[in-house]
Formats: sequence, C-alpha cells, structure tokens
Amino acid sequence: MSRAVEPSPVVANLLRSDARVCVPAGGYNGRGSEPRCPYGRSVGKESPDTECRSPAADRSFMPDIGLYVHVPFCPRKCGYCDFYSTVPAGDECERLTVALLVELERAFTARSDLRVETIFVGGGTPTFLPISALDRLLARLGQIAVEHRATEFTVEANPGSLGRDRASVLRANGVNRVSMGAQSFNEAELAVLDRVHSPADIAAGAEVVHGAGFEHFNLDLIFGIPGQTPATWRESLQRAIGLGPDHLACYGLTFEPGTPLHDRLMQGRLLRVAEETEAELYTAGVAELGAAGFEHYEISNFAWPGCRCRHNLRYWHNLPVLGVGPAAASYLDGRRWRNLPDTAEYLRRVTAAEPVAVDEERLSPAERAGETAMLMLRLVEGIGCEEFRALTGFDAEQLFAEAVARHAGSGRLIVERGRIRLTDEGRLMADSVVLDFLSPVPRSRDDGRP
Ligand code: SF4
Repeated sequence: MSRAVEPSPVVANLLRSDARVCVPAGGYNGRGSEPRCPYGRSVGKESPDTECRSPAADRSFMPDIGLYVHVPFCPRKCGYCDFYSTVPAGDECERLTVALLVELERAFTARSDLRVETIFVGGGTPTFLPISALDRLLARLGQIAVEHRATEFTVEANPGSLGRDRASVLRANGVNRVSMGAQSFNEAELAVLDRVHSPADIAAGAEVVHGAGFEHFNLDLIFGIPGQTPATWRESLQRAIGLGPDHLACYGLTFEPGTPLHDRLMQGRLLRVAEETEAELYTAGVAELGAAGFEHYEISNFAWPGCRCRHNLRYWHNLPVLGVGPAAASYLDGRRWRNLPDTAEYLRRVTAAEPVAVDEERLSPAERAGETAMLMLRLVEGIGCEEFRALTGFDAEQLFAEAVARHAGSGRLIVERGRIRLTDEGRLMADSVVLDFLSPVPRSRDDGRP
C-alpha cells in the first residue's frame, strides 16, 4: 500500500499553487496576430490538449527554466496570509532591489546555459516597490525576456497598488501578463480577510490593466470566506468576469496556523464555512466560469483558450524553476531548495557573497516521479501517461497501480485514453487523493520503468 506522507515544505508550497506565473507588444512569440477573445486579448489556437502539455513537450520553444522573482513586501499583512511577506522598513525596498539584481547576475553568470521560458514576479506585492526600484528590476528582467525569447512575463499586483504610472513601467519593460489579487467583491468578506482594498479599487485596477494594453490579465478570488454565501460568491464571480480577465484563479480559503485568521477561528470569533457549503461554492464557480467561456484546466484555475498560465504549467509538470529573492523556491538539475525566508539575513548574505539557499534536497527518480504525478493530477486533464514517461522514465499506470485502483474503485479517479485524471468528485477531495501518489513504492525488478 502506498504511504500517504506529507510533501516537503517546498513541494507543499508548490502544491498550494497559489504557489505561483505574456512579452513586448506583438509578443515575443508572435502571438499578436492570433484571434482575440471577446475582451480584445489574443486567444491562442492551441487545443486544450496541446495547451495542457508540459511546455517541455514542445521542442520548438526549447524551454529550460521558469524564472520566479519574489518581492516580499506588502503595505499591510492580510489576516490569512502565510506567504513570506513583510511590511518594509527604511530603505529595504531599494536594498532588496539591488540584492535581487545581484542574485540574478550571479545565477546567470554561474549558469550561462540556462534558457528562460517564463518570468513571474510575485510576492508580496511587487507593484508596492517604489516606481524607480520597480523600473530597475523590471528593466533587467525585460532584457532577460528578450535575450531568452521568453513566452510569458507576469507581474503580480494588488488593487490599489497599480496606478497608470506603474502600469506604464510594466508595459515599457515587456510585461505581458498582470495577475491581480481581487479575492472578493464583498466589503464584509474583504474585511474578514484584512485586505487593504475595496471592490471599487479592483474595478479601477482592471481599468488600468486594460488601458495599458496588457496581453493577459488574471484575477484571483477566494471562496469559503467566513460569512460568504452562494449568493455573495456568485456576485463576486460575476463582477470578476465583468472586468474582462482572460484567466481566473479561485482558491479555497485555508486557515494556516500562526495567522491572525487562524487565531480568530481558534478563539471562536469566526465560523468556518461548512464543508458542504464549500463544495457547493467550488462547484458553482466551475459552472459559472464554464458558462462564461472559461476552460477549467487546473483544480483552481480557469482560462480562455490559449490563455493558460505557462509559468504555473511548469510547476504542474514539475519542470525546472529558478527562484530569486527571499523565500523563493527552486527546482533545477533534480535538486530542490529555497532561499532564506528572512529579508535582513538575505540582504546580508547577498552583500557578503554568501549562499542564500536553504532546505536543499535531492530526490530519487521514484520520488521525483511521485511529485510529478501529484502535481500533474491537479490538471483537469490529469497525467498523460506518455508525457509522464517522457518526463520521468516511469510507466504511471504501473508505478501507481495501487493508488489508481483504490481511487478509481471509489469513483475519484478515472483512467481513459492514456490519461489518469481526477473525476469531478475526486477534485473535491483532491488533497487526500494526490497524497497517495507522493510515495510510490517501486518493486525492485519491476518499477514501472521501461
Ligand atoms: S497581499 Fe498577498 S502576499 Fe501580501 S499580505 Fe496579502 S495575501 Fe499576503
């Protein structure tokens, strides 16, 4: 029987997948001539099947890594947030920008063979950086995007942090995708989450994004907020759709120990949304977004055809990602590590030319296959067995025979046309199903490898 074990902290973070990731006008990859979605953005010609393949499966891109840059600063800490982010003090923003540029140069000097396919600047709130610091950081990343012919360059923003001036800086440096944390369009729900913005700020942010002409626009929403009802959730979905994103991410709220929201729950000052209601909200979201033309391609992610997030697709195929900045996670050459989640110490070490990586681990081929399976199962199209073999060397149906039999028997998994995927019911309890794929137990002489 497969052991259900906890993923490593780095993988656990990737699995949250709010673990996180288009190009100068016209597109690095020439997408400017593609058909447009009803909101005027380009809609790719790929079929859902080819779009969901790992970027590595398409040799014409010759991809190598996704580049993630973490800017760990926010104007205030949201009550539910357990990402590494702080409120900056003194000249920390400027010092961090310099340190990020130094870490980038060191990384690309040490590994001149790396080719960047996607760039994602996340946080934190990258657009909270002073405009000159933001410009400096994005100018270097924009050069990398051009040199490497990157296909996607995303920056995360929050409503209220992206005015016309910063949007111009993003556009001028080649950013082609903005990902904005809306979370809810209900004042009371935003207050429960301790968000700094109002629903009107989200609409104003969307107007700035459209006005600046970014190729792609994502909005994040949260369901399962204490006090949320199916009616308020539907209203948030409808208002989000009305702002014209080509991508939506809908995450269930988690109460992470150590956060103020978790404390309030423990003190009985908040009531968790009932499990059945949470399932109802998720199912309603899938239906509403499907009816509006969004393809459901990952447990929590929805996109117009051709507008899936290529950077995050790399995570869901367990492909190499280089992380830069405090707490940023990396996966390269079969090694995983993350940078120190402590900005002051990160700054000191970068200045002193000392290593900033911690929690390094090297996985065995079977462990890597287990992680890849867990991540690919998050995709609605699941594990493509041929692609899985190409990525890991293992036969997925053989390696995970026990887990597949158990969950297929209970209606949570389905195996058809060379794919292993979660059923609609399985997606509602995805965390418990995918954990059974984490630690395959290869038989010594017959481990599923060709
Ligand atoms: S804006 Fe995002 S990163 Fe910043 S505190 Fe809120 S949830 Fe955390």
